Amino acid sequence: MTSWIDIAVQTPAHSLIGGLLTYRHVRTVENSLITPGTLVRVPLGSRDVLGVVWAVHDHAPEGLQESSVRDIAGVLHGIAPLPAAWRQLVQFAAQYYQRSIGEVAMAALPPQMRDLNAAQWARRLKKPSAGPSEDPGFAPGLPLSAQQADALAAIQAQAGPFLVFGATGSGKTEVYLQAVQRQLASNPQAQALLMVPEINLTPQLEARVMARFGAAQVVSMHSGMTPAQRLKSWLAAHTGRARIVLGTRMAIFASMPQLKLIVVDEEHDPSYKQQEGARYSARDLAIYRGRLEGAKVILGSATPSLESWHHSRPAAQGGRYQRLLMPERVGAGQMPFVRRVDMNNQPRKIVLSAPLLAAIQARVERGEQCMLLLNRRGYAPVLHCADCGWKSECSHCSAFRVFHKLDRTLRCHHCGFTERVPRACPACGNADIAPLGRGTEQLEEHLAELLIHVRRPDGQPIHILRIDADSTQHKGALERQLAQVHSGEVDVLVGTQMIAKGHDFRRITLVAAINPDNALFSSDFRAPERLFALLMQAGGRAGRDADQSAQSEMWVQTFHPKHDVFAALKKHDYPAFASSQLIEREQAGLPPWSFQALLRADAHSQQVAQDFLNAARLALQASGEDNTDLQTWLTQVSLYPAVPMSIQRVANVERAQMLLESPSRMALQKVLAALQPVLHSQRAAPAHKGLIRWLVDVDPLAI
Ligand code: ADP
Ligand code: ZN
Ligand code: ZN
Repeated sequence: MTSWIDIAVQTPAHSLIGGLLTYRHVRTVENSLITPGTLVRVPLGSRDVLGVVWAVHDHAPEGLQESSVRDIAGVLHGIAPLPAAWRQLVQFAAQYYQRSIGEVAMAALPPQMRDLNAAQWARRLKKPSAGPSEDPGFAPGLPLSAQQADALAAIQAQAGPFLVFGATGSGKTEVYLQAVQRQLASNPQAQALLMVPEINLTPQLEARVMARFGAAQVVSMHSGMTPAQRLKSWLAAHTGRARIVLGTRMAIFASMPQLKLIVVDEEHDPSYKQQEGARYSARDLAIYRGRLEGAKVILGSATPSLESWHHSRPAAQGGRYQRLLMPERVGAGQMPFVRRVDMNNQPRKIVLSAPLLAAIQARVERGEQCMLLLNRRGYAPVLHCADCGWKSECSHCSAFRVFHKLDRTLRCHHCGFTERVPRACPACGNADIAPLGRGTEQLEEHLAELLIHVRRPDGQPIHILRIDADSTQHKGALERQLAQVHSGEVDVLVGTQMIAKGHDFRRITLVAAINPDNALFSSDFRAPERLFALLMQAGGRAGRDADQSAQSEMWVQTFHPKHDVFAALKKHDYPAFASSQLIEREQAGLPPWSFQALLRADAHSQQVAQDFLNAARLALQASGEDNTDLQTWLTQVSLYPAVPMSIQRVANVERAQMLLESPSRMALQKVLAALQPVLHSQRAAPAHKGLIRWLVDVDPLAI
């Protein structure tokens, strides 16, 4: 008996066919029945590739040229088909984010699965899996505070989705863990998915989860794992052996047949948005998946995204999420006192104001730790010749190369182009070229000079440590550096936003943002939201230990001390900040009051990139003229003219973008779907020679 089978395989990103290819399968007594979700190998071109069965037909699909259909090469035996809910999630993500099903499906599977041949696969599945045969029982949770108990009770009693709005250190993690614990205890098969923004930054959480539930019950999923480890975790989740998956955004696609609870910690974090391929939001997919599979969804943050905050407004006003409040910190730990230093009253060009410097010194002398944030790595963002005006531009990008003093290089942070620092100005020969602006390397150096005389209580000189993408390049470096902070060896920690997130530092009592003003005047409408979240998170690193006698402090050096962002920060008042932002967004018709998509084109010239986008826009509008449905949708969507991206050229590629915006998500989706064939036909036009690629970013985080 012959079946025709639609299979998701890795196909080029912009294939129009939705990524499904049809193959033939002739059933004999020996080979098994193929059902949707079955993993197979199929010939594609001259190779055999992995595929997932999407649909099985008894008859050849209409219009199919039977002679061109190839037979599947084989079934991956020994592994259960991927559940229907998983396929539905993949299909939804592909459609919503405008990619092929095959691409999303293959990206959702562990990479090693694609590489193993049948023999290797058979060997891999034979490996005994160290699954828990007996339920080892869970370690008991902490006795909950009243607000924790209330939150947990609400999660038990209601359907959700929930937004746990809780201060840093209010014990949100404990609530998640106990919610997981109850879910798993009430159903011996139940599985839970715990998502975090960047797992390598929070090894503590992994340890905490393992200690609570037993290491055998928990698997991790993140990009720092080896292919073999990832496959192992994936299989454990797929077979139900692992009850808990702890992972980064990729984990949203884990096959978990008994998924009953999804937690998205720090739900506002931009790293939940994938920035290549299918540009999905794992947070948004969590909501979709929860509804699809009847799993409860808990989002949590001290500074929720404005989208989630808006969705959790009272139900009477249209809110769809249930907001749970946890305003108090656990124990007696106080929120830090916020001090704004008006830099207009400080000597010009000073990096660290005198009062901040004195405060750092006093803390170190008492044996407390300080954390200084500067969102720029390297020594200086630009090298500059005062004689002729030369600047260290990158020859491949519309950006400056950053001066790194430690290895005396100029490095482009966009394309990676690196050169030795020239001895003299490359343009005029002037030997006196100077750094402009400051990065973390310089701050570290500067601070060491200013505090050279300071002694710790044990009489030792001050120990300053820098943590940023440069200091943590080598494997294990970050863990070592964090351990130094935790052990108390380090007195002052200098770093980028990398250090602001999640860490449970116990002895930090002073946090300072050295120069946060840039974000206030960004063209990106989300910049204030991100800055506020970053500063609240950073402040949350201070005063976590209630035993600390001193009041902890958060310092902000700014030329705009009266700005809304800092005024709200001073009061730790996220709701006030959020409502003022939401009013501004409503007036401007921006998300969450509207939905956006960016269409981006890369080309050898800016002209071609923009022409391509503008031509696609005009062609789309023209095709609306003889399609009344599309016409109706188009009236609800604003299509803006193409503009250069804010960093217009990267690695010699010119980039342009076009914004689509609509108050209706449905209208935007319909228009995006209609745009796909238009893009394909425009690509072939001779005028667009030099076009390299295009991509669609739905719900983009940066405009
Ligand atoms: P959040 O996730 O809100 O930042 P955590 O759950 O990490 O907060 O809790 C902060 C600290 O308080 C942690 O060290 C945690 O062990 C501790 N903690 C949380 N809940 C309790 C509790 N009910 N009793 C005692 N300590 C708690
Ligand atoms: Zn010069
Ligand atoms: Zn470059």
